[in-house]
Amino acid sequence: MEGESHTQIPHVLIFPLPFQGHINPMLKLAELLSLAGINVTFLNTPHSHRHLTLHSDVLSRFSRFPAFRFLTITDGLPPDHPRTFDYCADFITSFETVTKPILRDFLVSGHFGSDLTCAILDGFFKFLVDADDAEIKIPIFGFRLFSACSVWTYFCVHDLIQDGQLPIRGEEDMDRVLTNVPGMENVLRCRDLPSACRVTDTNDSVLQFNIIQTQRSSEFHSVIFNSFEDLEGPVLEKIRTLCPNLYAIGPLHALLKAKLPNETECLNNLWEVDRSCLKWLDNQPPGSVIYVSFGSITVMGREKFMEFWHGLVDSGRNFLWVIRPDMVRGKNGDVEIPAELEEGTRKRGYTVGWAPQEEVLAHEAVGGFLTHSGWNSTLESVVAGKPMICWSYISDQLVNSRFVSNVWKLGLDMKDVCDRGTVAKMVNELLVDRKEEFMRSAAEMANLAKRSVRPGGSSYADFDRLVQDITALSQ
Ligand code: UDP
Repeated sequence: MEGESHTQIPHVLIFPLPFQGHINPMLKLAELLSLAGINVTFLNTPHSHRHLTLHSDVLSRFSRFPAFRFLTITDGLPPDHPRTFDYCADFITSFETVTKPILRDFLVSGHFGSDLTCAILDGFFKFLVDADDAEIKIPIFGFRLFSACSVWTYFCVHDLIQDGQLPIRGEEDMDRVLTNVPGMENVLRCRDLPSACRVTDTNDSVLQFNIIQTQRSSEFHSVIFNSFEDLEGPVLEKIRTLCPNLYAIGPLHALLKAKLPNETECLNNLWEVDRSCLKWLDNQPPGSVIYVSFGSITVMGREKFMEFWHGLVDSGRNFLWVIRPDMVRGKNGDVEIPAELEEGTRKRGYTVGWAPQEEVLAHEAVGGFLTHSGWNSTLESVVAGKPMICWSYISDQLVNSRFVSNVWKLGLDMKDVCDRGTVAKMVNELLVDRKEEFMRSAAEMANLAKRSVRPGGSSYADFDRLVQDITALSQ
């Protein structure tokens, strides 16, 4: 190309929220942009960076890109402060009061380099950068790490309140079908709305925070989604009416795999991975195992934990269960474990503290996924062609699980129920009774996902457009 010798290499700052489910896809985006010849600075909190470099291969993985670098910024919390969902409010407050001014200074003073082209911030970060801050000169892109259907639901909550559809009027109102969410008429019940909507007062601060953060998405220069047209096309179209400059480039892990077909997956773990479960899976018959994981920040009381455990054993099916060390509240209490549970687990179960999830889902022994419906887990299951039982826990997950079961027909929705009988029944429904039906729809969706990240696919094209647009910004 003429004048090529004068072209400036674009330089992008990427900053995720310090959670596994946010760091994972943003590191994948960082790798994809680096492969496309863009220089990347990846910003972590010291806590995430320490765990990431301890338990994953990111340093060697990214060392092949000479201009790539990791930098850190404080989250304002003490190093030993818990980082599970229970402590989310502490984190948001400290990010706003401590991290926000530092980030602003960094962006204004050129801390990341005078060549910085743009920043891709976690889409939940609009609260970290003020739209009218004229001193921040670079374009800010927002990467919404939730599903498009949940983001669109958040966009519509304000109108639901105006229409008198919210607040939800108690437990007896939870199954009321919402007829007027544009583009999703008659899909959602009150119980499928993001968890912030489960309040009696619509002025609730968490609900208002979520509404405002979502509305402010339209202030981003552009918005990126880890999704694809064949899965969420109609909803993405709705969001484009408010955020016209939108890129749908997911599933990102599949896009990366398509670009690097001969490489092993990138390990971005904040926890130590226990690969022994892959050997255990090698010894199980095809499609016989239910894989159980509730992601990186879910916590549950001992009672629920025991219901899951009984249900899995009672199902009579094989199970591989991720029990994070910080997942169960009061886990180390002096509680006796019934002998039949120990025995059932020895016979048919295997537990790990953290699994290589993408590899586990791809394993032929796995026939289904009991998940909390985090967006990454959902996409990973979609790409692996594995149906799901959804026990959604918070936030966007409640919308995702409804779409998995009622729109995409990829599994069963178990939200708000946690008893051993239901767990056992649904595991059997997924792995045995309705196996063919679910495996067929899961295989169809997996094909569409893989097609979207290949040349000619929608996500492949949108990623190219993103690279071109960032490059144009740098000229
Ligand atoms: N994950 C993993 N091993 C595990 C459990 C989870 O690698 O044992 C990964 C999973 O593959 C996904 C991420 O952690 O990429 C969890 O993200 P998700 O959005 O599903 O849920 P969150 O943790 O944000 O609630």
